[in-house]
Amino acid sequence: MLRNCTFLYMLALFLFISTPVFSESSTDAVKAVADLRNWSFEQDGIVELNGEWEFYWERLLDPNSLSDSLPKDYIQVPSVWNEGFATYRLIIKFSEEDLTKPKSLYMPSIASAYRLWINGELYHSSGTVGSISGDMRPYNLPTMVPLDNGEEQVEVVLHVSNFAQRKGGIWKPILLGQTKDILKIRDRKLAAEIFLVGALFLMGLYHISLFFIRNSAKSALFFGLFCLSITIRILVSGESLWNQWFPDWPWEWAVKMEYLSLVWGVPLFVYYVFELFPETMANRFRLGTLIWGIGFGLFILMTPARIYTHWMLFIQFCIILNFLYIVYIFILSAIRRKPGSVINLLAITFFFVTVIHDTLYYNLIIGGDDWAPLGLFMFLFAQSLILLRSFSASFDKVESLSEELMILNQTLEAKVQARTKALEQSNAHLELANEELIRLHRSRQNLLSNISHDLRTPLSAIQGYAKAMMDGVIKSDDKQYSSMIYSKTLYMNRIFEDLLDLAKLESGSVKLEEEKVEIQEFIRDLYHKYEFDMVENELYPDFTITGTSFPAHVELDKTRMEQVFSNFIFNAIKYTPKGGSIKVSLDYSEAENNRIRVSVSDNGIGISSEALPYVFDRYYRDRRESMDSISGLGLGLAIAKEIVEYHHGEIGVWSSLHQGSIFYFVLPILDRKEDQHG
Ligand code: ADP
Repeated sequence: MLRNCTFLYMLALFLFISTPVFSESSTDAVKAVADLRNWSFEQDGIVELNGEWEFYWERLLDPNSLSDSLPKDYIQVPSVWNEGFATYRLIIKFSEEDLTKPKSLYMPSIASAYRLWINGELYHSSGTVGSISGDMRPYNLPTMVPLDNGEEQVEVVLHVSNFAQRKGGIWKPILLGQTKDILKIRDRKLAAEIFLVGALFLMGLYHISLFFIRNSAKSALFFGLFCLSITIRILVSGESLWNQWFPDWPWEWAVKMEYLSLVWGVPLFVYYVFELFPETMANRFRLGTLIWGIGFGLFILMTPARIYTHWMLFIQFCIILNFLYIVYIFILSAIRRKPGSVINLLAITFFFVTVIHDTLYYNLIIGGDDWAPLGLFMFLFAQSLILLRSFSASFDKVESLSEELMILNQTLEAKVQARTKALEQSNAHLELANEELIRLHRSRQNLLSNISHDLRTPLSAIQGYAKAMMDGVIKSDDKQYSSMIYSKTLYMNRIFEDLLDLAKLESGSVKLEEEKVEIQEFIRDLYHKYEFDMVENELYPDFTITGTSFPAHVELDKTRMEQVFSNFIFNAIKYTPKGGSIKVSLDYSEAENNRIRVSVSDNGIGISSEALPYVFDRYYRDRRESMDSISGLGLGLAIAKEIVEYHHGEIGVWSSLHQGSIFYFVLPILDRKEDQHG
C-alpha cells in the first residue's frame, strides 16, 4: 500500500514538474567542448552545460593566457570540491541556424564566488573570488547572462573559489538556451517560489493568529511556526528570493537562515505531531528532538558556515530519522483510527519521497530539481485541512451544544416554573396545615379551659350536696337532693358531649357522612318530626315555601343538619312565650345562584342589636333569663355554625328585640333550577 502510494505520488510529481522547455540533453561536453552544432535551440530547448570542463585546480588563470596547448585536467560538471579555488573552461560550438538567435546563460548558485568570462571578456561576477579565505567574499544569486550574437564558438571561463562552506564549485548545471526560453524557465521558477512563499507565509500567519485567538490550539501555533520556518528556507534557497529582494544581505546570515530553518523546523513539526497524536508519541523522542534543534541552532548561530555546513549530512540524516519516526506515528495513528491520520499518512509519504529525492539531488546522486517545496506545500496544505477539520468539528460541537443548551434552558425555565408552582402550592398547603395545627392546638387549649370552667359549678354543687349528706345536714335518702345531684350529672354530661362535639368540629376531625338529599323532603320531614314539640309548648307551628319550588338536591350529613335544625327549633321554643308562633320556611329565590335557604322564625323575645353579633360565639347566652335549665349552655349555635360551614354553607340571624328572630342557613345545591326545566 505504502509503495503504491509512493509510486503514484512520484508519478504525479514528475508530471507536475517536467516542462516542455527543460528537457534532459545528451549534449554533455567532451574534453571541454560542448558541440551543439546538431542542436536546435528552437526545437530542442535548453541545454545543460554538463560534462567535461577544463579544470585548473588552485590556479586563477587569465582567460587570455589559456590555450588548447596548455597542460590541463578535466572535471565533471556539476560536481563539488571542498575548500580551494580553480579555473574552469569550456568551448561551446553552435549550429548555423542558432547563430543569430539571442542566447543567454543561466548561472545557478555556484559555491561560493565566481567570475565569468565569455570569449575573454568579463561578463559577470558573483561575490569576490580569492585564493585565500581572507581575500574572498561569498555571494549567491542565480543570474541570467545574455550572450552576444553571431559567434560560432564561445569560450566560457570561470574563476571559482570557496573557503566559506562545505560545498565548492559548480554544483548545479549551468543552463544555455534562447533568451526567451531562459527567461521563461527563470520566471517560472521565481513564480513557483513566490507562490510557495506567499502561500506558506499566509498559512503560517493564519495558524499563529488562530492560536492567539484560541489559546488552547497549540497545534495551530506549532504548525504556523513550522510554516514560517519553511517559508524562510524557501526564501534563501533555490532562486534566492531573499537576495533578489535584499541584495546586500550578508551571505553568512542567509546561510544561517537556511540551516536554522531546518534545525528549528524539525522540532516544531515534531511538537505539532505530538499535539495531534499525544498518546502515540514517545516523550523521549520529543525532548530529544527539541534538544537536538536547540543545540544545533546555537552551533549554527555561533560558528561560521565553513564549520557548520560540514554537518549538513548529519543534519539530513537526523531529519530522515525524524521523518521515519513520524511516519511510524502516522501509521500507528491510522491503525488506531485517529481522526486525520490517514490523510496525514498519505501526505507525509508524499513529502517523504520529495525529501529523499532532494537529499539525493543535493548530494549529486541524482539530477533534477527541488521537489521538497512542492511536497511540503502539499503536505502542509493537508495539515491545514486536518486542523480545519478538527476546528470545524469543534465548531459543529459548539453549535450543537449551544442548541442543546438552548433547549435545555427553555425546558429548564418551564421546569423552574412548574417547580415554583408546585412549591407555591405545597407552601400554601403547609400554611393551611400550619393554620390547622394552630387551630387544633387552640381548640385543645379551649377544650381544657372550657371543661374546667364549665364543670366547676355543677361539680362544686354536687360536692356541696355530698358533703352535706356526709355531715348529716341532708339526709342521704332525700329524694330532692338526689334528683338535683342526678340533674347536675346530666348537665355535666351534656357539657361534655357538647364540648367534645365542638372541639371535634373545630379541629376538623369530624368526618361528615354526606349524601345527596332532596332538600324540601328532608326539611318537611324534620318539621313534622319537631312539630309536636312546638305544639306541646303551646306554640303555633307553620311550614312555608317561598319562591318557585323544584326538586333541589343538596349534599349533606343528615344527622348533623338535623342537629342544626333542632337547635334552631328548640331555641325558638325556648325564647318564645306561649301562644307565639314558629315558622319553618324553605326559600327557593336564590336558586339561580345555586343556593337554598332554610329558616326558622319566631315572634318571641328577640335579640338586642348589641347581643346579635355574638349569638354564634361559644358560651354566648342570654343573661335575661334564668339559665338554670339544662339547655342554655351557649354552645348550640356555635356547633350549628361549624356544621353549616362544614357543608360550605352560610349561617345567620335577623332579629329585633321583643319582635322575634329569624335563624337561617343557606346551603349550596347540586342541580340548578334551569337544569330542572331545561
Ligand atoms: P342556648 O343553649 O343558650 O340556647 P345557643 O347557642 O343555642 O345557646 O343560643 C345562644 C343565645 O342566643 C341564647 O342564650 C339566646 O340568648 C340567643 N337566642 C338563640 N335563639 C334565640 C331565639 N330564637 N330568640 C331569642 N334569642 C335566641
